Amino acid sequence: MWSAAVLTLYPEMFPGTLGQSLAGRALADGLWSLDAIQIRGFATDRHRSVDDTPAGGGAGMVMRADILAAAVDAAAARHPGNPVLAMTPRGRPLTQSRVHELAAGPGVTILCGRFEGMDERLFEARAVEPVSIGDYVLSGGEVAAQVVLDACIRLIPGVMGAASSGEEESFEAGLLEYPQYTRPPLWEGRAIPEVLRSGDHAKIAAWRKQRAEDDTRLRRPDLWERHGGAPVHPPSGAQ
Ligand code: SAM
Repeated sequence: MWSAAVLTLYPEMFPGTLGQSLAGRALADGLWSLDAIQIRGFATDRHRSVDDTPAGGGAGMVMRADILAAAVDAAAARHPGNPVLAMTPRGRPLTQSRVHELAAGPGVTILCGRFEGMDERLFEARAVEPVSIGDYVLSGGEVAAQVVLDACIRLIPGVMGAASSGEEESFEAGLLEYPQYTRPPLWEGRAIPEVLRSGDHAKIAAWRKQRAEDDTRLRRPDLWERHGGAPVHPPSGAQ
């Protein structure tokens, strides 16, 4: 069974959204397991403190490396083989290809930060992968961990039905997905594109490919250029 271990100061936040819908059913069906571990359980003083003031001064508090390392070591013993991710805006952005790798493995252990983040020495002393879910700052790593887990869980074999394999979805082919439509065929004067009602599968596939490319170029020039598309904003002076 795919195992999700979460190291957090707020274990009661789990499963949270992951207890509902697709992920919730998969949890109930035993397709994945959840182990929410309280980081304070590894504190060494009677106040169970896990943080201290930042070296060099500044606002807020920093999570202590020694406490976090003890928590990571305990999680590794309980979930051997799980890669350990630490949620931080300073991490590498999560990608769909990394999500595929994680979903194909034994599971994942995720460390959730709070306050001003974690003592950097943790990343030097333990094999912990810093991961960001985007260029913005959340108040804590728990929501970010749920994002990572949700993205992985839907790819665990047996979680999505065969009818929805996810193969055509955004990022799978390096592009955004084509736009989707459903009934009613006419809504507020707007019709579903005629080609989608033509029944001509080759024409529909060509239209979808074109829209996927056009929308990616327009909305995500970074993705488009990584996919090998012509630069959307060529450097000035270029032909
Ligand atoms: N001082 C940190 C910085 O500027 O990089 C931000 C700390 S944030 C207030 C507290 C915690 O929220 C972080 O330690 C991390 O676990 C989580 N977090 C916030 N934004 C995140 C993001 N974009 N991706 C992943 N985790 C995030």
